[in-house]
Amino acid sequence: MFSEDLLAGETAVVTGASRGLGEAIAYRLAEIGADVVLTARSADRLEAVADGIETGTGSTAVPVPGDVRESEDVARVADRATELGDGAVDVLVANAGANFHAPVAEISENGWRTIVDINLNGTFRYCHALVDALTAADGGRVVTMSSVVGRDGAAESGHYAASKSGIEAFTRSLASEWAERNVRVNCVRPGLVATPGVEENRGVTAERIDRSDVDRTLGHPDEIADLVAFLVSPGASYVTGQTYTAEGVPDGAD
Ligand code: NAD
Repeated sequence: MFSEDLLAGETAVVTGASRGLGEAIAYRLAEIGADVVLTARSADRLEAVADGIETGTGSTAVPVPGDVRESEDVARVADRATELGDGAVDVLVANAGANFHAPVAEISENGWRTIVDINLNGTFRYCHALVDALTAADGGRVVTMSSVVGRDGAAESGHYAASKSGIEAFTRSLASEWAERNVRVNCVRPGLVATPGVEENRGVTAERIDRSDVDRTLGHPDEIADLVAFLVSPGASYVTGQTYTAEGVPDGAD
């Protein structure tokens, strides 16, 4: 679908890359030529993913464990990526995210803060830490990660919805600010995707998804990875500040 040297010579950072969408995105960017720095909390899992990417794609994959809530961890990831890219980081995919279900009447202030800190503040921390390296790339790209819940809201996910909605507004603001740095900033807004967590909860499997079938409301992780690949490609040169939805049939979820 994308040429294998599309991102040749480029360096990309993918957060939340130990599994799910982040893993699929990191794999896709490496497959089309980027060297990737992967980060998430679990060191063991990250190393396994990095090994799989290097073996499968031939690109360099560097695992750097860290928590998006800790500025020192974020700085360590940013430094390693900047070193790998000789001072420039071409692509940041701020994908790491978390959620749990609780009604607003019952959520603790700590629970609210945790989700906003991981999703929204974590996105800010990575953009902030990599601004110089993205500017040095002379054509940097950022992709942030929302959710249809950030657009629609959802019962028992007020904290998550607010954090994702914030990411969309942040994306638009950053795109305005960073145009003069030659950095494009866009957001992806997935509907339900068959990541391992969703597979467990819903009893579905990604393997059974037929990508040629339009009439569905469950996506494959590769479909999100492909949208990210498009947004960081030269094909999206006139696209910045936008949020792209990938949810299959609109209003089709049961
Ligand atoms: P997942 O739970 O499978 O993976 C989340 C990743 O984020 C993991 O690598 C995890 O280690 C990392 N992460 C979580 N908290 C972290 C922290 N404090 N510090 C560092 N890393 C942390 O999730 P997923 O389904 O792959 O979702 C990825 C992104 O896509 C999230 O932002 C999620 O909100 C969004 N999303 C997913 C779906 C879906 O259906 N799967 C739908 C809409 C949006």
